[in-house]
Amino acid sequence: MTEAGSKLFCNCKANYRGMEPNTNVCPVCIGLPGALPVVNRKSVELALAASLAFSCSTPEYIVFTRKHYFYPDLPKNYQISMYERAGGVPICRGGRVRYLDIHAWEWKECRLRRINIEEDPGKTVYGEGGILRSAEAYVDYNRSGVPLLEIITEPDLGSAREARQLVEYVLLVLEYLGVTNPRLEGAFRVDANVSVEGGERVEVKNIGSTLDVERAINYEIMRQSAILSSGGKVERETRHWDAERGSTRPLRQKEQEEDYLYFPDPDLPPIFLREMVDRARSLAALNDPSALFAQVVELGVSKEMAWSLVTTRPALELFLQSVKRGADPQLSARLIAVDYKGELREKNRDPYDPSSWPATEYVTELVRLVKEGVYTYDAVKGIVLPKLAENPMVDLKSVLPQRAENLDSIIDEVLKREERAVKDYLSGKAQAMNYLVGAVIKATGKKALDPRAIREAIEKRLGRGS
Ligand SMILES: [Zn+2]
Repeated sequence: MTEAGSKLFCNCKANYRGMEPNTNVCPVCIGLPGALPVVNRKSVELALAASLAFSCSTPEYIVFTRKHYFYPDLPKNYQISMYERAGGVPICRGGRVRYLDIHAWEWKECRLRRINIEEDPGKTVYGEGGILRSAEAYVDYNRSGVPLLEIITEPDLGSAREARQLVEYVLLVLEYLGVTNPRLEGAFRVDANVSVEGGERVEVKNIGSTLDVERAINYEIMRQSAILSSGGKVERETRHWDAERGSTRPLRQKEQEEDYLYFPDPDLPPIFLREMVDRARSLAALNDPSALFAQVVELGVSKEMAWSLVTTRPALELFLQSVKRGADPQLSARLIAVDYKGELREKNRDPYDPSSWPATEYVTELVRLVKEGVYTYDAVKGIVLPKLAENPMVDLKSVLPQRAENLDSIIDEVLKREERAVKDYLSGKAQAMNYLVGAVIKATGKKALDPRAIREAIEKRLGRGS
C-alpha cells in the first residue's frame, strides 16, 4: 500500500507541480526493469466513491490492464489502465451523470460507458513551435504514474454547451469527493468525440478547460459541417485543439483499439472492493452537490444563489453553519453568495480558500443587525463587506458603521434648525433631502455613517416614510 497523496503505484508525490523536472521519480514510475507496482488503495477508494456517485454498477473486484503503445513519455511502453475486455475489470460500468443545465435550471442526464483508473504518462515539453513544428522534445517524468480517472460517456450530448455543463458538473462532484482540485494546472483534460450527421467521428484531444470544451466542439461542428456542405468527406481522425488559435489541427490517424494489445497486468493481483464499499458510499452520500443544492433551495434561497453557494464550497459551508445558528437563509445567501463573493472577486482573493471567508459568528451577527433594522443591508454591503473581504479576521466591531447614541434628538434638532430645507423637501424638491442627511451626519460628528438609515429616519419624522 502506498501513501495517500502519492502516485498510483509508488510513493512519489501525486502533486508534482512546481518541481524541478525528473525529481519526483523512482524505479517504479520510470519503469526500470524489475521494479514492481504496489497499488495506492486510497486512489481506488476515491475512484469507487466517484463510481457510486455516478450510479455505476460496482464489480466485486477490479483487474488492471496493460495498454501497450510506444511513446517517449511512457517509460514502460505500456500504461497500466483498465479495459472491459481481455480479462480486465474496470471500476465502473454503466452509470449516469445527472448534471444541471444552469440556463434552464433543469437536470439533464448523460449515460456513462465506464470509468477507468489509470496512471498518467510523463509530460513531453516541446521547443518553439509546439507539438506540430518544434525540432526538440523534452520528457519530464514527474507526472508519470499520477492516478488518473478516465470517465467515458455514451454519445448522449447534443451540443457543445451541454458537454461543457456536463464536464463542469462532473468536476464539481469530483472536487466534493476530494478526488481532484480542478483549478490546479493540468488537473483534468477532455477528449471530445465530435460528429455531425453524414460524417465520421473525429476525436479532439488536448482540451484543458471547461470553456475550451465548448469552444473546441463548436469549432469542430463548424469545420465538419463546412466540409460536408461543400460536398467533401469527414474522415475518422484524431485532432489537436490549439487553444491559442481557437482551432483544431490533424494529429494522427486513429489507432484501432486492438493495436494496444491489452492484457491483465500480471504484477497486480485483482483488488476486492467489499471492504471499501461502505466508506466510499457514505463519502459519496455526504458530498453530493445535487443534494446540497436541493437543501439550500428548500430553505427558500433562489436557484442562482444556491448554485453560487454550491459551486464555492467554503461559501456553502459558511452558509449552512450560519443558518444552523439561526441566521435568516435568504439574507445569509445574498450576503455570502452575491455580495461578499463579489468583493473577493474585486480584490482578487481566492473564494475557494476558506481563509478568505469570515467566521460564522460574523455572518450571523451581520444578518441579525440587518434583520432587526439596526443597519440597512446596503450599509452592511457598502461599508462592512469591503473591509471584511480585505481582512476576514478583523474585529467586527471596528468595521461596523458607528451610530450616534441620540440620533432621534439630533434629527429633531436639525429639522428645527433647517426649516427652509424641510419646507423645500415637503414642497417636492427631492434634492433638499440630501442636504438634510448631510446636516444630520455633520451634527453627529460624522458618527452616523449610514446615509440611507438617516434618510429613512428623517422621512419617518416628516410623515413621508413607511
Ligand atoms: Zn515513483
